[in-house]
Amino acid sequence: MSDLNELYQQVILDHYKRPRNWGRPQTVDREAEGYNPLCGDHIKVYVMLDRDVIRDVHVEGTGCAIAVASASMMSEALRGKTIAEAAALFEKFHHIVLGDAANNGNGTSSGIGKLAVFAGVSKFPVRVKCATLAWHTVNAAIAGRHDTVSTE
Ligand code: ZN
Repeated sequence: MSDLNELYQQVILDHYKRPRNWGRPQTVDREAEGYNPLCGDHIKVYVMLDRDVIRDVHVEGTGCAIAVASASMMSEALRGKTIAEAAALFEKFHHIVLGDAANNGNGTSSGIGKLAVFAGVSKFPVRVKCATLAWHTVNAAIAGRHDTVSTE
């Protein structure tokens, strides 16, 4: 275990213990529910929109450290982004957790900021669904879908 991995673990644990933007806000424009039956992660994502700009993202629910930390950090990363920017960020994040970024050296991981801590997830394929649950769910919320997002 390298020092870098320890740093990553600390960031994930910090967000797991004290998830940011947690709980249902007073006003909600869009919401969706996400469930990862493989692990038991179960969250709701709330989105406040200002036309095509994401004003705020809140999450509530329960899950493993990866799922909760990912949702918490996503809520911070998406604030102020346009819907198109959010989709692009999800694309990059997906590459990170699947390990694609490590294979092509650089490029994919640029512009993703703190979310790069999830690169370690790529070594644990079963955890990829934990890491991406919040992102799939926020996509469903923005798209206005009302069915529960399941990773299965
Ligand atoms: Zn999980």
